[in-house]
Amino acid sequence: MKSWHKTHCWLGLVVFAAALCRAAAEAAEPDWTALEREGVELLREYLRIDTTNPPGNELAAARFWEAKFKAAGLAPTVFETGTNRGGIWVRLRGRGPGGALVLLHHLDVVPANPSEWKYPPYAGEEQNGYIYGRGAVDAKGLGVVQALAVLLLHRHGILPSRDVIFVATPDEEAGGRLGAGWFVEHVLPALGRVDFVLNEGGHIRPMPSGQLAFEVAVAEKTPLWLRLTSRGKAGHGSVPPAETAVTKLVQALARVQALPRVPRVTDEVQRYFAALATMQVGDQAARFADLRRALSEPSFREKFLLEPRQAALVHDTIAVTVLQAGSKTNVIPGVAVAELDCRLLPGTDPMAFLQQLIHAIGDASIQVETLLQFPPSASPTDTPLYAAIAKLAEREKARVVPSVLTGFTDSHYFRERGIPSYGFAPFVLTEPELQGMHGVDERLSRTNVREGTRRLVELIRALE
Ligand SMILES: [Zn+2]
Repeated sequence: MKSWHKTHCWLGLVVFAAALCRAAAEAAEPDWTALEREGVELLREYLRIDTTNPPGNELAAARFWEAKFKAAGLAPTVFETGTNRGGIWVRLRGRGPGGALVLLHHLDVVPANPSEWKYPPYAGEEQNGYIYGRGAVDAKGLGVVQALAVLLLHRHGILPSRDVIFVATPDEEAGGRLGAGWFVEHVLPALGRVDFVLNEGGHIRPMPSGQLAFEVAVAEKTPLWLRLTSRGKAGHGSVPPAETAVTKLVQALARVQALPRVPRVTDEVQRYFAALATMQVGDQAARFADLRRALSEPSFREKFLLEPRQAALVHDTIAVTVLQAGSKTNVIPGVAVAELDCRLLPGTDPMAFLQQLIHAIGDASIQVETLLQFPPSASPTDTPLYAAIAKLAEREKARVVPSVLTGFTDSHYFRERGIPSYGFAPFVLTEPELQGMHGVDERLSRTNVREGTRRLVELIRALE
């Protein structure tokens, strides 16, 4: 009896202690409704700061974040990279000896034409659960959830396993030389060890099977931007010579366009489609499981390549984007210029590609200049950060998918310094929401502000 009583008391104590722990855990659980409100207000304010690049004027946005972090008792640093150009970083201390996690986003946005928008692009208006504005998705919404995650951990006194550094840079939309490029050169070396970067590029995608795919951009195609300049005799349009600057350029471009296009499935792309295969329905599933083999079937290849994004993932692409020559109908110009936006797959040698192009142009009088080029960029998936994203996906019964971007982000600046960098915004984005990026009516839902913050906090806490 006595012993029973003792056991009983002991059990009672355990139950009581467990209840206490639960109460403490519940107290620590953030008020997500309040956080959603706070995040929405931050986003609306942020969208009202016009950081259209050019000219950028991102310093005002950096000051905006500086004030928020200072008010919370953190010690942010603003850096200036040009007139009214600048960025900010702030560190949240972690408990472990591992290198820091950088949360990266860019402060600048692409231009918007207000006459095409349903709601003004710089007003931060909220309608039907969406916050509208240029940059809502690319990338101010991401910046808001990254900042909110840091503020939340700080307020609750939660020490992450590693230092977390919030970094916001200018100039991404113009190539990042005055932004992330400047940052990795002038600030990064003084920050101590950085083990990974979480940046824009991937997101969560609803799949045909009904499942969610957590797409993590681990590789990007590389830009090779070229300018072709053709020169000839200027003259009167009524007496054209057989060959002019314009005729030579037009013929050169025709030869470039006629280059054979042979699909090539890189290892990264093969893995990406294989991961997507498990969430496809019907024929698509088997085809995606082994894309290399599937592309040898002419009917599938034709259908697959009709979709420009899919075609871009298996080709080095060439787009003629700028053409400049005369300005008067009756004057033959002495100079004609074309610019080419070439995008190379991981593994393509840029020099070999350029040689092939010069060979196709076949006219030594046409000058070919390189405007922009950097090395191919990819990150391994066997890192604690990738594992943490996979864990997060698992909790939502979703799958993590290592994806390849047809475009490029600031990630390459960090990858070139040997730091794994992933593109992952913790938002569920549908096709219409994605079309707002660089398009009209760009918007982010309230739900994404709340759930994005929740996911990012969970991700940081799951990171070892
Ligand atoms: Zn962006």
